[in-house]
Amino acid sequence: MGEAGRRRTFAVISHPDAGKSTLTEALALHARVISEAGAVHGKAGRRGVVSDWLAMEQARGISITSAALQFGYGDAVVNLLDTPGHADFSEDTYRVLSAVDSAVMLLDAAKGLEPQTLKLFDVCRDRDIPVLTFVNKWDRPGLEALELCDELVERIGLQPMPLTWPVGEAGRFRGVLDCLDGSFVRFSRTAGGATAAGEERLDPASALAEEGEDWVRATEETELLAASGGRFDPSRFFAATATPVLFGSAVLNFGVRRLLDVLVELAPPPTPRSDVEGRARPLDAPFSAFVFKVQTGMDPAHRDQVAFARVCSGVFERGMVVTNATTGRPFATKYAQQVLGQQRSTLDTAYPGDVIGLVNANALRVGDTLHAGKPAVRYPGLPSFAPAHFAVARPADLGRAKQFRKGIDQLGSEGVVQVLRSDRRGDAAPVLAAVGPMQFEVAAHRLETEFNAPVALERLPYSVVRRLDDPAQRALVESRRGSEVLTRAVDGTDLALFVDQHTLGVLRRLHPELAVSALVAGAE
Ligand code: GDP
Repeated sequence: MGEAGRRRTFAVISHPDAGKSTLTEALALHARVISEAGAVHGKAGRRGVVSDWLAMEQARGISITSAALQFGYGDAVVNLLDTPGHADFSEDTYRVLSAVDSAVMLLDAAKGLEPQTLKLFDVCRDRDIPVLTFVNKWDRPGLEALELCDELVERIGLQPMPLTWPVGEAGRFRGVLDCLDGSFVRFSRTAGGATAAGEERLDPASALAEEGEDWVRATEETELLAASGGRFDPSRFFAATATPVLFGSAVLNFGVRRLLDVLVELAPPPTPRSDVEGRARPLDAPFSAFVFKVQTGMDPAHRDQVAFARVCSGVFERGMVVTNATTGRPFATKYAQQVLGQQRSTLDTAYPGDVIGLVNANALRVGDTLHAGKPAVRYPGLPSFAPAHFAVARPADLGRAKQFRKGIDQLGSEGVVQVLRSDRRGDAAPVLAAVGPMQFEVAAHRLETEFNAPVALERLPYSVVRRLDDPAQRALVESRRGSEVLTRAVDGTDLALFVDQHTLGVLRRLHPELAVSALVAGAE
């Protein structure tokens, strides 16, 4: 199918400050979505705020929520899904990765692999998502290129396959050696990287004459890597066992065009997705999509809920009535939109790989499948992740208890936090569970601003969580100090919480019959 084949749907995974916003701007600049770098993320001092919509985000200059950016590049249509940038990301970050076909791992040349990059990479690995690596900030002093490549092998077992190699060590960046044809691509600066950087191609002899030692070193290093398994091989990239590596500087707009070219030429287009029974649904089957993110309050004027769905098969046309496979209910798509931060434009047609924003989607939940026509399809639900932070939530203003309850239910169904309850604690004091503590701040902020129901949060000392497989063992778990059983509202799963591993270990030794299991993919 032609339209699906043109799509490249990916996300950038990185640690905060590695340059994701800057790179996003630079990529969009090449595609001329925005006329001047700065309009996408609107970092301080730059024009336009598109992606950072929440007041809190603006105040902090961080991006907590996800948006999708779509642009055409040559014949291709690129969908860049934004992943929240803060260290305490929520489950949203991981879920975005269920909607992409490839990822760009962005590294800071001075820091190499950082904790959040590693966590996100693990999710890519679990899902066999092919990963491209972009080493950013080469204009500044940093690690050596070979050192960075060694890190990939040693720490995450990923074979680097350089497509470009820097000429001039970090801090004295002149250009890159093109590993595929041996030529030299020389960059020239533009004011603040605000426009696409100038590039000039030189043959190896001229490169040697002009760059001398730096050129010799670059050729020697790339030969060394090629000899130790680093020769480019697309099949290893698709198999997610090796990663193409490019060097550049997002802020100077060096090497960004090449990254875009590589994405378009090499990154995989959408492929048929498997349903709950493991059958792959062909791309040209009737329309189907799954919801990977739900968000409210994006437009302060209308407090509506937007569900983001990734198209998996067929053609989406605005106005079509689709079925929600989870509930069997119809859903009208009159208000389908393309959402880029606060800006929305009506979306009329979408193809596999595209993201549609469905407005007024109060009935949709993360993980829901939408489809039109026959045969019906249901995709597997999205994984949930093991929370590691817990807090009791109570209404700070008892007069607002009703709004408080409504708000908690809403945030739970959106996946902003997980909501846990037990008879013992009662409905008025649910426990909120989060992958990162930042989720609590987001929840508190939204309860106050959207539901006018300020919350008092009291942190609980638990850090270890397991699924309780046999509900009859609840009393057994609760017989020990430092443990408790709570039920997750969204799916009824009983979770056993422990203050630490030791407490769980002791209980296991005393009661070998205890049936608990790990929660899926995540903080174990
Ligand atoms: P994010 O948190 O990953 O979105 O990172 P940002 O894009 O906000 O960048 C963090 C900081 O690094 C900002 O001050 C950027 O100007 C800077 N930065 C980004 N890319 C580069 C680069 O290529 N070279 C240099 N020297 N600084 C960069």
